[in-house]
Amino acid sequence: MLAGDVRLIAAAYISSMKDTLGRNNRSLPDLACAQCGSMFRPARRTSTYCSVPCARKKNGGHNRKPETWWINGKGYVEGRVWADGKQRMVKQHRWVVEGVIGRRLLRHEDVHHINGDKQDNKPENLEILSHGEHSKITNGQRRYKRGYKLSLTDEQRSKRSEVAKRIGLGKSGRAAQGLI
Ligand SMILES: [Zn+2]
Repeated sequence: MLAGDVRLIAAAYISSMKDTLGRNNRSLPDLACAQCGSMFRPARRTSTYCSVPCARKKNGGHNRKPETWWINGKGYVEGRVWADGKQRMVKQHRWVVEGVIGRRLLRHEDVHHINGDKQDNKPENLEILSHGEHSKITNGQRRYKRGYKLSLTDEQRSKRSEVAKRIGLGKSGRAAQGLI
């Protein structure tokens, strides 16, 4: 057989395929999914299922990842877990506590890392606090990278200090109460 014949036969074979996506650059014919039976466009010669859900149904889901974890931009461990047959994005410290108390956390319930290590998610390092209580602890510990957030001129600063003296913040403010 001449090389030209082979090319012609290959071209005829490819043009006879049903092109479901309206493209002509395919190399494999449509295939019936081994799970749901619908026709799909295989990505490679060994493709068997039309989609990941179909592949999982067929094998009982044994090869799906039970959970995936990574560290997010704020330094907390975050991940995807399975809950009630669905995948869910969770913060690991909240997920661990939900496992211990056996229910979902409410919106106002914060999970506090007792030893201050955001990635130490052992149950004994975690406690539930109301959002208010949690802020009281964490705001006091916050270190501002570039000093205090307000940038004031000396004049503005002394004006504020006069006001603070007048209303007695030095005696009754949070600093005086030992909260800051
Ligand atoms: Zn399928």
